[in-house]
Amino acid sequence: MKRLVCALLVFCLLLPMIAQAETTYEKYTVSFFGSFDTVISIIGYAQSMSTFEEVTAKAQERFHYYHQLFDIYNQYGELHNLWYVNQEAAKAPVQVPSELFSLLQYAKEMYGPSLEMVNIALGTVLAIWHQAREDSELDPERAYLPELAELEAANLHTDLDDLILDADASTVFFQDPFMQLDVGAVAKGYATELVARQLLQGPMPSFAINAGGNVRLGNPPLDGRANWGVAVQDPDGFALADPNSDVMDTLFLHNTSVVTSGDYQRYYIYQGERYHHIISPDTLMPPQYFRSVTIITEDSGYADLLSTTLFLMPYEEGAEFVGNLPGVDAIWILNDRSMRMTDGIKDKAKSQGVTNPAQP
Ligand code: ADP
Ligand code: MG
Repeated sequence: MKRLVCALLVFCLLLPMIAQAETTYEKYTVSFFGSFDTVISIIGYAQSMSTFEEVTAKAQERFHYYHQLFDIYNQYGELHNLWYVNQEAAKAPVQVPSELFSLLQYAKEMYGPSLEMVNIALGTVLAIWHQAREDSELDPERAYLPELAELEAANLHTDLDDLILDADASTVFFQDPFMQLDVGAVAKGYATELVARQLLQGPMPSFAINAGGNVRLGNPPLDGRANWGVAVQDPDGFALADPNSDVMDTLFLHNTSVVTSGDYQRYYIYQGERYHHIISPDTLMPPQYFRSVTIITEDSGYADLLSTTLFLMPYEEGAEFVGNLPGVDAIWILNDRSMRMTDGIKDKAKSQGVTNPAQP
């Protein structure tokens, strides 16, 4: 009898441990549209549907807010967003919410001798290209290129030193009354990183966010695989059509970002040539070095900044540049569709014979 009681006691003590060991995580997926003009998908492993819904509803709300904050085309009530800053900051310093201030500060700090290809003060020049693209998309028969003289005149107002940031007051001031900011090169990645950091601290740290080609991975998936599989898109594939037909490579990774800049999503055709949306500050034209550049590094904002930067550099220059950045890898898809990659990513790529191992 005593033995039986003892055995029962041990069983009762073990029960919570057994129950804990059996905690299961289900895979859930959600997609939403509206923020950053793209579909944003989140896959996560959560203990329940309600946890997943709670976590992703908050993420969606954050994406929506950052979209409004970094938007240069629309006004949202009283919000001191980038549209408002572009309207008002030459008259007097404008106080802005902390995330907008931090993004501007980050982009300005990063800009320098080695990262001078991406300049958020290039707004006047980018606005001319934006207009030409919209007009040409609407009426392809009358597609046109901007006048170089007009671009050069706009380029007189792109000195980032004229952006005056006061961290104590959280204000933005334009020293040049014609200057305009455009954070398109970095905002989506920056927002994705902010959301990812929030997810990592919550009840669903095992996730993958795909914000229109801007992928941020959390902890490994909780289904036995050691890594998430991330597709490197074929620039000539049809996104969303057949998920298997438009993949150039698959990378097996976790706790990092995979961010692509390409010529295949926003562009128009003029006289048979493709004119995309990434503009060289040197020539004021869209260069045609590659079809896409993908950056792999932990911070999504940094990855976004670097993918646009690398897209604006010839391969040799870009390869040397990335080679000197610790923790950064890159994949280039050239105009002939051939692929180049840095050594650091080769042991993560399916094209190099790598498979996804089980979790250790
Ligand atoms: P996507 O928007 O497709 O993710 P990118 O991250 O490369 O691609 O950003 C492209 C956007 O960056 C453009 O739409 C424009 O707003 C902005 N941009 C383009 N060229 C430059 C540049 N040289 N410096 C700063 N911003 C740029
Ligand atoms: Mg970018």
